[in-house]
Amino acid sequence: MYRTHTCGELTLADAGKNVTLSGWVQRVRKLGAMTFIDIRDRYGITQAVADNTVTDDVRECAASLGREYVIQVTGTVRERQSKNAKLATGDIELVVEAIKILNTSATPPFTIEENSDGGDDLRMHYRYLDLRRPPLRDAMILRHKMAFEIRNYMDSRNFLEIETPYMISSTPEGARDFIIPSRLNPGKFYALPQSPQTFKQLLMVAGYDRYFQIVRCFRDEDLRADRQPEFTQVDCEMSFVEREDVLETFEGLIKHMFDKVLGVQLPAKFPRMKWEDAMARYGSDKPDIRFGMEINEVTHLVRNTGFTVMDSAEYVGGICARGCASYTRKQLDQLTEFVKRPQIGAKGLIYARVEEDWTVKSSVDKFLNHYQLRAIIDQCKALPGDLVLIMAGDRRQTLSALCQLRLEMGSRLGLRDPKKFAPLWVVDFPLLEWDDETQRYYAMHHPFTSPKIDEVDLLDTDPGKVHADAYDFVCNGVEIGGGSIRIHDAELQQKMFKTLGFTEEQAELQFGFLMNAFKFGAPPHGGIAFGLDRWCSLFAGADSIRDFIAFPKNNAGRDVMIDSPSTISDEQLKELFIKLVPQE
Ligand code: ASP
Repeated sequence: MYRTHTCGELTLADAGKNVTLSGWVQRVRKLGAMTFIDIRDRYGITQAVADNTVTDDVRECAASLGREYVIQVTGTVRERQSKNAKLATGDIELVVEAIKILNTSATPPFTIEENSDGGDDLRMHYRYLDLRRPPLRDAMILRHKMAFEIRNYMDSRNFLEIETPYMISSTPEGARDFIIPSRLNPGKFYALPQSPQTFKQLLMVAGYDRYFQIVRCFRDEDLRADRQPEFTQVDCEMSFVEREDVLETFEGLIKHMFDKVLGVQLPAKFPRMKWEDAMARYGSDKPDIRFGMEINEVTHLVRNTGFTVMDSAEYVGGICARGCASYTRKQLDQLTEFVKRPQIGAKGLIYARVEEDWTVKSSVDKFLNHYQLRAIIDQCKALPGDLVLIMAGDRRQTLSALCQLRLEMGSRLGLRDPKKFAPLWVVDFPLLEWDDETQRYYAMHHPFTSPKIDEVDLLDTDPGKVHADAYDFVCNGVEIGGGSIRIHDAELQQKMFKTLGFTEEQAELQFGFLMNAFKFGAPPHGGIAFGLDRWCSLFAGADSIRDFIAFPKNNAGRDVMIDSPSTISDEQLKELFIKLVPQE
């Protein structure tokens, strides 16, 4: 037997017991005749002490131990003289009788502690060592707990967990597909699914009216911050449902998760916001509503001022930062630099401070008179002591920049407490987005999303005006999930493809299987998918999803530990009938 207990469980109640532990050497300290060995496993750390009662062999063995050696220690539990309140096992220590080295270890390239001294690359290279550190261990435990509670809830609501294939054919859903060549079918390719979307719909046709799956999805996207080419969704679909049924069911799941995993009680009903309102009030389709500081449009108040930046702008808007009228020149410059960063791309920032006597001091005093300034601050609901921050320009970009500025001010003012949770459904998205470059519409969610049924006729006359029966679950400014009621009528689906610029042949080629299935009694259905990695990071109050994935890719989409992607042999290429062309 390698162990009688783990390194995280012995307490005073075990004093006097003879026990055996196995684990890794965290640290060895020599103090006079005593050698202290901290031994670690995933449950915790226990202090073992080899004192002057041990045999010479044991003493020598203890002296030879290096960091991360794997050892087995047998001894008696006793109460510790100087207790360590920070450690779960800090009341006791193990008086060593025998030590066995189960394996030695090379010196690890960084310390395996709460805060590592290793850089990002190094830790990614030795991910299995990084995973020994408590923060990553806790992330893995959290993720397990989440998956476990998801299954509990879904099972209690009659959902069946059904697996769908990873090797499918290329059915673009928005992003690029990852492609796998087929040796047995020369010149043909599989694709990895961006999500099980079409399969879960086929399961509805098959009569499995409540499906879910915790499933890997693959998207060959340019990697923006905090994206992974493979990530995990909690994918769900239901038949015979309207939007309300879906939202009710998954509000239940979300509340269950917050309760069971975090011990947080969410409100009985989550607020809802139309997409258009979210964009106008927060400049984002995933607003952080933990705090107010809404965006106010003032375009109509700043016409004919003689200040071209404002006069000619498609959109002018402002936010009110409470109590920030005392911001110094330096602080204001910092904010201006912030909005000018390439990711935000604003040209500048205008401010207006409201003094105690209601006079307004502004960076555009020269152009705007007192009444105009007053109208702006009134529109932004500013009071004495407040600072109004204003931006002007193209509508979309300016709203998006104001959104970033609002979040930045929210952070500066401590309004974004990671322990506070503000859930929200964003509903009534536009069905389509126009793309100037390719001169065509794209589905905002995916091509299977149902238009609002009373707007279907608009598809022929003014497709850009049609709303989707779609919804996103947003919490603290993060999109955690999204879904929709689906089209279940072959004809409407065909019309949708046509609107998206597919010829009948293209639609048939890529989605014929789905439209064909719809001819065999497709029930009304709808669903949702949650991003599990992101949900974990929200629960942990972390910024990045990477630490919630055991073996993630780096920002270039590479796994530096196993060196992937990598080249393959000429032999393999030949078998696949693939010739490489040199890169231009
Ligand atoms: N398949 C969709 C996605 O991956 C989610 C859904 O509509 O259920 O975004």
